[in-house]
Amino acid sequence: MSTFSAPKGTYDLLPPDSATVLAVREALAAPLRRAGYGYVETPGFEHVELFSRGVGESTDIVTKEMYTLTTKGGSQLALRPEGTASVLRAALQANLHRAGGLPVKLWYSGSYYRYERPQAGRYRHFSQVGAEALGTEDPALDAELIILAADAYRSLGLGGVRLLLNSLGDRECRPAYRASLQEFLRGLDLDEETRARIEINPLRVLDDKRQDVQRQLVGAPMMRDHLCEACKEYHERVRELLTAAGVAFTDDERLVRGLDYYTRTTFEFVHDGLGAQSAVGGGGRYDGLSEMIGGPPLPSVGWALGVDRIVLALRAEGVELPLPANTQVFAVPLGEEARSELFALVTELRRSGLAADFAYGGRGVKAAMKAANRSGARFAVVAGERDLAEGVVQLKDLESGDQEPVTRDGIAAELVRRLG
Ligand code: AMP
Repeated sequence: MSTFSAPKGTYDLLPPDSATVLAVREALAAPLRRAGYGYVETPGFEHVELFSRGVGESTDIVTKEMYTLTTKGGSQLALRPEGTASVLRAALQANLHRAGGLPVKLWYSGSYYRYERPQAGRYRHFSQVGAEALGTEDPALDAELIILAADAYRSLGLGGVRLLLNSLGDRECRPAYRASLQEFLRGLDLDEETRARIEINPLRVLDDKRQDVQRQLVGAPMMRDHLCEACKEYHERVRELLTAAGVAFTDDERLVRGLDYYTRTTFEFVHDGLGAQSAVGGGGRYDGLSEMIGGPPLPSVGWALGVDRIVLALRAEGVELPLPANTQVFAVPLGEEARSELFALVTELRRSGLAADFAYGGRGVKAAMKAANRSGARFAVVAGERDLAEGVVQLKDLESGDQEPVTRDGIAAELVRRLG
């Protein structure tokens, strides 16, 4: 133990678990690459205002959970709590929406920071893979993103992910709905903070998890019954396209999500094996966000999937991902002269594309063979001075225990033949 440990709400990713995390990120990204999404990377921090305007002044993320700091130069910055506002900011800054055709399709992978109350599946530093399709209003684009996420979960072998779907309406129909919801909510017996929320973002009250609140919400007006014709048609089309693609979903009229910028299509992927923090991904359409951060109208849709929770979901389902080979060959020298020779062989094997490792530290043969077994290697190459004088090394199969001499000159090719 050192004097220090990782800050509360964070954890270190260490081998062997870290290999699973890399494999998850890769699996989430693969369908995006095949669908024409380009990789984008933005800074880990941004001007605070990007998030307060973009994510919304009334959200928990902005009011309670943002890590903010003032630089020596006096700028107010925040560690990014989510990806969408940054990606849109970067696309607008680089004029990607003017450079080529629309939509601009981007994907990202990175760390996000929220000062939340830590619990299983909820961390202050967590990892997301996200995708955004900017500048196009087309139900097929909403459907594309949802299908890509569903395919990513499936490719990981996860069977327990459910898709919840809703429409939040648009600037035509939401204002009237918002007003009628406010009228309903003002008549309820709610605490002061929730009453304040009614005035700023009443839809969020529907998302309140407390039972006494949920009980009072029975009979609340629902967006579904207030959608304008255009929104209704749009939503119906998204549903048809999902059904045609074999992606099952549940209509969830209470689904509003914690960010202010969503319009029309809203969705969340949940996994029932995770306890309270069941959301493994979510997203939706955000047609007004570009204008909220000073850009032109740019109707867009996107999602973010939570890597940490997907790893937990894999564990809950007992899914073992096929991971890239660790060490395939382990070299064990017997004596000093053999050390240089086998070290050279390890480099040669690596350059031939094999995963090879070496008994470092000049320990005895017993310790070296133990290290070879622990490495998970299929073969050990063992050689002493006498072997080398005869121009051979001993190739030991660590599964069967069989051992045979192979010429020093031919060993690399022989191993590539057996393992490559
Ligand atoms: P959100 O940006 O809140 O929609 O989050 C998208 C996804 O990121 C969620 O569905 C979670 O899987 C994941 N996520 C959000 N917040 C956290 C957190 N504090 N810890 C771990 N995962 C998170």
